[in-house]
Amino acid sequence: MNIYQPVALLVAALCFIIALKQLSHPRSALGGNAIGAFGMLLAIVVTVLASGRLPTGIVILGLLIGTVIGLLCAIFIQFTAMPQLVALFNGFGGISSALVAGVVLYYLSAESATATLTTQIAGIASGVIGAVTFMGSLIAFGKLQGMVSEKPIIYPGHQIVKLLIILLCGATIYIAASNPGNAAWYWLMAAAAGILGIVLVLPIGGADMPVVIALLNSYSGLAAAATGFALSNNLLIVAGTLVGASGIILTRIMCRAMNRSLANVLLGGFGVVASSQPGGDEFYQGKYKRTSPEEVLLLLKSARKVVFVPGYGMAVAQAQSAVRALTTLLENEKIEVRFAIHPVAGRMPGHMNVLLAEEQISYEKMWELERINPDFPNVDVAVIIGANDVVNPLAREGSGNPISGMPILDVDRARAVVVIKRSLSPGFAGVHNPLFIQDNTLMLFGDGRQMVEEMVRAFKEV
Ligand code: NDP
Repeated sequence: MNIYQPVALLVAALCFIIALKQLSHPRSALGGNAIGAFGMLLAIVVTVLASGRLPTGIVILGLLIGTVIGLLCAIFIQFTAMPQLVALFNGFGGISSALVAGVVLYYLSAESATATLTTQIAGIASGVIGAVTFMGSLIAFGKLQGMVSEKPIIYPGHQIVKLLIILLCGATIYIAASNPGNAAWYWLMAAAAGILGIVLVLPIGGADMPVVIALLNSYSGLAAAATGFALSNNLLIVAGTLVGASGIILTRIMCRAMNRSLANVLLGGFGVVASSQPGGDEFYQGKYKRTSPEEVLLLLKSARKVVFVPGYGMAVAQAQSAVRALTTLLENEKIEVRFAIHPVAGRMPGHMNVLLAEEQISYEKMWELERINPDFPNVDVAVIIGANDVVNPLAREGSGNPISGMPILDVDRARAVVVIKRSLSPGFAGVHNPLFIQDNTLMLFGDGRQMVEEMVRAFKEV
């Protein structure tokens, strides 16, 4: 081994670490992505050159096919479909690790001598975790894509079925470990683990999938790290560990911002309207005040400080470009416009930042929860576009509802509040929202994009 190879691999590992750091902020994320991709390319090139026996042509063909698929995904996938795309990528990561570990364990090591104990343990770990990740991710993808029911799939005795499959998995692991020369047991073990992945994810509701996907992302990293041990490939160990650790950190951040435990997410059943909760009509008793786009426009024009609060509904309505147009018109009138960003608004971390950034809205205008909350009493009009849970004052109650304790944007403390949504139906957590019947709140019922476009049209007409 010449000196250049370990140095190049060290550079690649550093690229991964810098990339992760850069990915933690939307402003630096693009650069981080490029650095990570460069590190990966460097790692592949060095590994192929160093091996001396890898078929370079096939590796290049694989690289080209992967690049084309990646490009097509980047260009054509809708932003709201990003969670399911990430789910697929995690799944592919998981299955690749399981396949490579299997090949190392039973075919490559058989060429020289029997696999070492480390290779065996790591290979089996990779097979199990990789297969759970693969099948679990496919189910997560199916749920988000509407191919599998979004509702938690629970049937009589499902816990017993889960337990039996865990036992089956344990048994196949034992047999595969006791028969190191027999590849058939390894693949049978991977199949059992795949079934486990299915039964673990099926009972979780579709709306909880983003958290599950972050967790599966972590698993795919662990599978890669295990394969790294099986292959004695330090870079794969580093890369896998980074993915595993960052995935679990992201999972924790998401759970904390939702004020839920991971167990609560994994046990499922969240977002189903509690039967003890009164119906919407009973709760609101017609006390809300309707408004029109023209009326909201007048309110906005008389304001000095306006804050837009985007939520999941803005992403569904694809209202961001209309919001951008309205922002420009208001700013031309010397009205200050900011955006209040909740860490779990939408359905994935950073969802709102990215939608707004796509419309060239600068990050200086996007204020995070801790920064904007003290300023809400000075805000003349807060306009909520398709957000619900993240502005629900019921969250301030210590207990008694699914969002109790979740930090929220203190929109109710603004001088006037406008809520744009299609109906009075609850958000993701299935909880009614007393903000809608607060004295200073006006409800603008309709599709987010249509309503904002009507305001822009009315603005241009006067
Ligand atoms: P919510 O899901 O609470 O509310 C979204 C609202 O958007 C709904 O009440 C809906 O009302 C409205 N809406 C839907 N479509 C449209 C449309 N076309 N035009 C206008 N409004 C529309 O969203 P929030 O962003 O407030 O909260 C996010 C929730 O998701 C939180 O509970 C969070 O914990 C959870 N979550 C977030 C994750 C993340 O990482 N960001 C991950 C997993 C869960 P209506 O139907 O009446 O229009």
